[in-house]
Amino acid sequence: MENRILVIEDEKNLARFIELELKYEGYEVVTEIDGRDGLNRALSEPFNLILLDLMLPSLSGMEICRRIRQSKNIPIIMITAKDGVMDRVSGLDSGADDYIVKPFAIEELLARMRALMRRTGKVAQETLTHKDLTLNTKSYKVEKNGAEILLTKKEFDLLRMLLENKDIVLTRDRIIEKVWGYDADAETNVVDVYIRHLRNKIDQGNPSAYIETVRGTGYVIRS
Ligand code: CA
Repeated sequence: MENRILVIEDEKNLARFIELELKYEGYEVVTEIDGRDGLNRALSEPFNLILLDLMLPSLSGMEICRRIRQSKNIPIIMITAKDGVMDRVSGLDSGADDYIVKPFAIEELLARMRALMRRTGKVAQETLTHKDLTLNTKSYKVEKNGAEILLTKKEFDLLRMLLENKDIVLTRDRIIEKVWGYDADAETNVVDVYIRHLRNKIDQGNPSAYIETVRGTGYVIRS
């Protein structure tokens, strides 16, 4: 789920146009034409990005943005009809990450969406978490309940790969390729050995707590 977009826009033709274009680009799109409905939708379902019109019936885009920000850190692009400096400033003040002025070229909107999701995605990827485990890809620190766990380079790479591919069963061959490199002569049972080391360090007595063995296939961390 990396491409679910909520469009809150009351101009039906524009809303339909955006929805068609985004769907064509492979996004999953939900459209709301009323401010209050849009806010409820934004608060009750997961989205990767929200396109939010400024002037809406029942609740303004600014107010919606403010209320979403009280509980969610989701990327928001404000769509505004006016190009007044005040509108831009207050749009960004209310918590929007970016804005686009009507009329706009769809390519520009798509480019802004991609850039914003890249930006926010990167921040999110710096720390990978699972239950009480946190792995920081910049500082190479792994913590459990805030206490640091010391891992070797290979153990760290292995844990990172599992966390980056949550819910995807990784075969021993794929793990070898990624963690040991294509040229490595490593036997596939080296993966089992390292998984055991890793489990000893992070599971601490509970063998299925974090890393699940998929018999005959490989390993997975399930969210
Ligand atoms: Ca409007």
